[in-house]
Amino acid sequence: MSKPKILILGGGYGGIMSAVRLQKELGSDEAEITLVNKHNYHYQTTWLHENAAGTLHHDKTRIMIDNIIDMNKVNFVQDSVVEIKKDEKRVILENAELTYDYLIIALGSDPETFGIQGLKENAFSIRSINSVRKIREHIDYSFARYNNEGQKDELITIIVGGAGFTGIEFVGELADRVPELCREYDIPREKVRVVNIEAAPTVLPGFDEELVEYAINNLERRGIEFLVNTPIKECHPDGVVLANGDEIKASTIVWTGGVRGNHLVEEAGFETMRGRVKVDKDLRMPGYDYIFVAGDCALIIDEAANRPYPPTAQIAIQQAYTIGRNIKALMNGGKMEEFKPDIKGTVASLGKGEAIGKVGNKKLFGATASAMKKVIDNRYLFLIGGVPMVIKKGKLKLF
Ligand code: FAD
Ligand code: NAD
Repeated sequence: MSKPKILILGGGYGGIMSAVRLQKELGSDEAEITLVNKHNYHYQTTWLHENAAGTLHHDKTRIMIDNIIDMNKVNFVQDSVVEIKKDEKRVILENAELTYDYLIIALGSDPETFGIQGLKENAFSIRSINSVRKIREHIDYSFARYNNEGQKDELITIIVGGAGFTGIEFVGELADRVPELCREYDIPREKVRVVNIEAAPTVLPGFDEELVEYAINNLERRGIEFLVNTPIKECHPDGVVLANGDEIKASTIVWTGGVRGNHLVEEAGFETMRGRVKVDKDLRMPGYDYIFVAGDCALIIDEAANRPYPPTAQIAIQQAYTIGRNIKALMNGGKMEEFKPDIKGTVASLGKGEAIGKVGNKKLFGATASAMKKVIDNRYLFLIGGVPMVIKKGKLKLF
């Protein structure tokens, strides 16, 4: 009898961790596991803001997939998913076609542009190694042009649209990077503007007020400007128009205004909310017993708060553990488990040696929070590759 085929789409937190767990949970004679990913490397989405600003090289962020998974147990296919044919148990790739008995969809997110005119065409977004390399190079080139092209202010103005965690972490890195760029391109620091624009009345809406205040004070002191209560209405190649009619000219516009599930999920005909599937408690797709969804493509409800959990790597990683065990149970007629996220807290970096965080009821600031963030990052590396991976890719200097 042929072995059941397990197909994993996407090699981010949800997908790579599912592959790691399944290769542990199942013997090689029990199932044929295949992982499909666009690139031959896994990248840590949670570090991309550093690569975008140019404070960390992207080679630190990406890890070759064959360094993580056991190629004798998992077939790796480097290709792009084009279509999920859910009723035929088939997936169309750019260069091939695959069938499955069990499917794990872990294709991550797309930027949520809310239909804002010109945003898709004119703003950068922080979503992959390729996209952040472009941001870093664009900023560098704009600074290089400044003294050659009439010292136009817009060349050294950077707009960051959205002050959620991605926006805040990114401007924290820019606060470190801009002084270096100024030295490199002979530009006075006070000429450069980094403007973080937020629609809500405060940055990091909903997060602890004391920590938000710490972040704002810290970032303003380091030269970041905030505009709150100020939705971006339009985006042009040379700047943005705000809801109040004001315009800000900038050659670099980075959109960090939110995410939605990967468009392929909606296009496959699954019911979604902002591109995310409200999965069953065991992480299966409603109505499809053999399809699991992990990470940013999955929507799960925080019943205590009566709203969806924000999509995070923390949840994607935990979901992979449940999916690994549930696929094993499904194959062997065992009992499926419910996914219960164990939210340990939230820590956001503000640049080198600076961060804010809430772990349990404890608030963390500055160097302590920053060290905690590195511990979290190193823990993930340990989960996918043990001590050697931590040594190779980890952030070992905690303070
Ligand atoms: P991803 O990790 O994004 O992986 C998706 C994978 O699918 C990628 O490898 C991609 O290449 C691949 N893929 C996409 N489309 C295709 C296709 N068509 N064919 C083949 N492969 C495809 N969360 C936290 O918990 N803590 C943090 O500190 C944190 N920091 C963040 C910082 C930043 C800058 C950002 C942007 C996000 C951060 N998040 C954080 C959120 C977190 O990164 C996401 O929730 C997490 O990456 C979701 O995991 P995922 O597996 O769903 O998607
Ligand atoms: P988000 O949805 O959390 O934040 C987007 C922000 O953009 C919001 O504050 C929103 O009010 C603002 N916005 C929306 N439309 C706007 C407009 N027209 N003009 C100006 N501002 C506008 O998105 P994100 O920051 O990309 O985060 C995505 C997910 O990743 C979240 O779940 C987040 O928790 C997670 N994340 C976590 C961390 C961390 O834990 N350190 C870091 C980054 C991201």
